[in-house]
Formats: sequence, C-alpha cells, structure tokens
Amino acid sequence: MRLDFSGERVLAVVAHPDDAELFCAGTLARAKADGATIGICVMCQGDKGQPAEPIANLAAVRRKEMAAAAKLLGAQLFRGEYGDGRLADGPPARKKLIQIYRRFKPTLVLAHAPNDYHADHRAASALAEAASWFCTAAGHKTAAPAISPQPALWWMDTANMAGFLPEFHVDVTDYVDLKRRMMACHKSQLSRAADGDFSPLEGLMLRQCQARGAQAEVPAAEAFRTHQTWKRVRACEVRGAVRACFGFCLAAAATRQWLFPDVAVRAKNCFGCGHRPRCVNYYLKGEQMSLRALIIHADDNVANLIGPGGKGESVECTFEGTGKTETVTLLDDIPSNHKFAPVDIGAGQPIIKYGLNIGRASCDIRKGEYVHIHNIESNRGRGDLQEQT
Ligand SMILES: [Zn+2]
Repeated sequence: MRLDFSGERVLAVVAHPDDAELFCAGTLARAKADGATIGICVMCQGDKGQPAEPIANLAAVRRKEMAAAAKLLGAQLFRGEYGDGRLADGPPARKKLIQIYRRFKPTLVLAHAPNDYHADHRAASALAEAASWFCTAAGHKTAAPAISPQPALWWMDTANMAGFLPEFHVDVTDYVDLKRRMMACHKSQLSRAADGDFSPLEGLMLRQCQARGAQAEVPAAEAFRTHQTWKRVRACEVRGAVRACFGFCLAAAATRQWLFPDVAVRAKNCFGCGHRPRCVNYYLKGEQMSLRALIIHADDNVANLIGPGGKGESVECTFEGTGKTETVTLLDDIPSNHKFAPVDIGAGQPIIKYGLNIGRASCDIRKGEYVHIHNIESNRGRGDLQEQT
C-alpha cells in the first residue's frame, strides 16, 4: 500500500510570498493529487524585497504574484500581512494564526525549520508551532471555535539546505515543472537575479530539489523532519501487517514506500532506525488505522489494546514477527491501553507479555476477555514465585 495524503488538510505556513515554491510546493501538489485539501499561509507581505529598480507598492504587487502562484497550485491562500522584518512570535501574531488554523482546520502543518537563515522564517516557524498547539485550546478565543486534534507538524528544508539533516524526502519529480511555473509568477523577485547579493530564485529552487532528489535517488525531492512533540507526531499504516512505531521510523518507512511504491515493506522492524513497533497514536493516511493491538512477542498470550474498546467490538491483532493477524471479539469493556486475551488462557497458566512471564491466570480467561488484577496473579511481590524461577 502506498502512503498518501488523501483526506488530509495540509497547510504550509511560510514567511514570504515565494517561500512555498522553494520548500514545499511539490509536496503540496502531491498532496492535492492524492485528494488532500491544501493551503498556504504567507505571514509577511514581501514588501522589502525590492529589486534594483524599486517597485512602488511592492506589497500589492506581491499579493497578486502569490495569488497567481497559489492558483496554479490549487491552494487556498491566507495572508498574515506583516511587513517584512516585523514578524515576531507573540500574542497578536499567534492569535491571527490560530484563527487561520481554525478556519482551514489543518491535519498537517508544514513550517519553516526553526534554524532557517532568515529572521522572518524563524519567527514564522515559532508561530506555526505555537499555533499548532493553541488552535485546539478553547481558552484561546478567536472568531472561530477551537479545533481538534492538534495538526501534525513537519519542518521544511532550510534555504540552500544549510544545517538541515532531512528525516525523510518526498519525491516531487512530477511537480518540478509546476514549481517552476509558480516561481515564474514572482516576477518582482526574479528581476532581482542581477543583484549581487541575491541568489537567482529559480536556480536555487531547482538545485535544491535536485540535490535532495539525489540523496533519495529520485530526480527531485523536498526534504522534511517531523516535529517530535506530544500530539504532533502521527503514525501511519504501511501495508498488510501493520508496522508502526514512533514518528521517526514511520516517516522513514513511509518514505521508502513512497519513493518505491512497488516495494512491499517486509522488514520486521521499521526501515530507517530499526526500532521495534511500540505504539500507535495517530495516522498519516486519511483513514483511521484498523490496527487496534500489537502482539509484540510470538509467545505473548495477552495484548494491549490501542485506545479503549467496547464489549462486542471486533479488534484486529497483529502478531509481530509473523505478521499474522487475527480478529478477536472483545467480551468486556476495556480501558485504553489495557490488556485483553487474544487466545484462551487456562487457570494457572502463565501470562506472557512482551515475551516475559508477568503472572499467572487465577481463573480460566476466555479469548477476548479483559485481563487485569481480577483474573491474574502478579509475580511482583510474590517472593514464593520468584524463588521458584
Ligand atoms: Zn522567505
């Protein structure tokens, strides 16, 4: 299964009118092709990016340029309207961006890297991150109500890739021409190519996506990192037996799948870092994961439920190692992340979790039953049992 953006709502928060072209337009185009809704929020007017022959009313000119580029991409456009060099993380700008998030309702935000070269990029980065949390907090009042959940957040590459170690690359080979056409809308900036201190933008853009492509062995790519904080990391479903763990490995797994969609992910562990699957919180794909429980060790006879479960619910379990899946009907209501039995367990049998003997069944436990202190005796505190082992 190829990872895709269908059902997502992807918002790029950038400082200047031409930044999306440089860092993420290919990914946005790809998301749109998958069926995602896409948007660009440009925080600054670009009013100080004057060419040698100054343009009167540059902010208005750039407003038109960015609108034309966003139209080519098919993205909704939002504007912060801050003067260049005047953007700073603080309550007024946060409030403005929180309101934009609440209108667009992003599931994924693309933000400048916190260490990018330009002070406006760094300010936009901090704001995009802050708003990704506060947009869900009802206590932060704006015209639109709070949304839920927090959007996932990816850091975009830096200008000319300086000081940015990609976590994953998105193949944008099919969208290089679109990036060029979008960049061509920014005539006021392209006319700065003759400035000694200003890099020709199209060349910069093409070099960068080719260099990132070379790293990923495709003609052109855009590079990202995931924001590894609470509720901003999403898991994803790769294919068949579900392989999922924390965002870093997921991104790597997803990327391999993305770049080589015909190659099934068969690895027992995630690509990239080799971490064992551990937990599943969210999803990157548009649909909720069907995975509800992972059985970590082949000998395990209890599984942890992912999220709460109701009596009568069918839960798909994946046996790590073999990839075998089994559907278990829950016989009890089960609290989030608590244990249940995916197999029948006889009274007195050991309870095995993560390959470890954690106790024994104090009565017969049927497949699908809640497993907790009412039907297991823990080894902990049982010196008599510990002595026997
Ligand atoms: Zn910029």
